[in-house]
Amino acid sequence: MNDWAADRARAVLPSVLLSWLLALPLACSDSSHTTAEFFVFGTLVEVQLFDTDHDRAQGLFASLQEEFQRMHHQWHAWEPGELSRVNDAFRAGDSIETTPDIVELVRLSQHMEKRSGGRFNPAIGALISLWGFHTSEFPIFGPPPRDSDIESALKGNPSTLDIAINGRELHSANNSVQLDFGAIAKGYALDIAAEMILAADIEAAIVNAGGDMMTIGSLPGRPWKIAVRDPLGGLAGSIDIASGAAVFTSGNYQRFREHADERYPHIIDPRTGWPVQEIASVTVVADYGAVADAAATALMVTDSSEWLRIAENIGIEAFLVIDESGQIYASDTMSELFTPAEGRDYRLLD
Ligand code: AMP
Ligand code: MG
Repeated sequence: MNDWAADRARAVLPSVLLSWLLALPLACSDSSHTTAEFFVFGTLVEVQLFDTDHDRAQGLFASLQEEFQRMHHQWHAWEPGELSRVNDAFRAGDSIETTPDIVELVRLSQHMEKRSGGRFNPAIGALISLWGFHTSEFPIFGPPPRDSDIESALKGNPSTLDIAINGRELHSANNSVQLDFGAIAKGYALDIAAEMILAADIEAAIVNAGGDMMTIGSLPGRPWKIAVRDPLGGLAGSIDIASGAAVFTSGNYQRFREHADERYPHIIDPRTGWPVQEIASVTVVADYGAVADAAATALMVTDSSEWLRIAENIGIEAFLVIDESGQIYASDTMSELFTPAEGRDYRLLD
């Protein structure tokens, strides 16, 4: 999750204005596009609508604001809300009726967990909490958890596949399942936002959620150009998107624990209980935000020898990996979309 926009928001906006932003989108427009900014999911979300009239844009921004706030509160991984109610029920072994979108997030998660061979697994909320990653303030400091605590967090083998879905009712046969949708929620939220933008008859729009992007429709005569950050600083290159698609990046360079010159990034291998260190970032292009988001996280947890196999299992063709040394790798399909920055090169994966 790229949080440079949130950092920028914190740096330049006084807290009074920030709390006002929570209540109202900040809108501005010129002749070709109208923009609004929302502070949700711990990041700044910018929505740009092209060639639309003022009234339609304002109506849509108000609906998006309401919807973003609802999703933010209901899906929050550690603040009290709908998802914590669900997690409480799982812990107690109770069935619980919840919202259609939480049911859908569970369904999507089950699919992605299965396809990724458990590399993406949002049932490991207890482990993520043990590592101290249930916070918005990074970096965090202090030693990693004890081995024995990591082992006991893994002992129950939490998996979203333990969850039975019956209409709007969920029941987990495994009381170690604690949902944390941090690796998929933003993607699903942008899918919902894209649907709302399309339903408002907007023909071209782009949503930037702290560096994770959703493009809707296309611009006349030119592609959408999405910058890819180099985890070591500057730009790694850019990706051209012809029509609507999601471009999501997972990285280990912004959210981490630090102790004794060692960094423990926030993406955890659910099979070992330890953060992944070797990969700096993964960028995925897909039709849906939820898929791109979950896939980018899954590939962060994947050994280089298995990138192509796991991507194929998940149904991803276009992905880009930057390893800890700064080496860029691109899948065949990504190589058709990606232009490296000047002086940068990449290796083709085949
Ligand atoms: P992302 O930035 O999309 O890769 O999401 C990272 C967030 O997802 C972390 O902050 C955790 O809350 C959660 N998470 C960490 N590791 C995993 C994993 N292997 N599978 C699913 N969610 C994870
Ligand atoms: Mg993700």
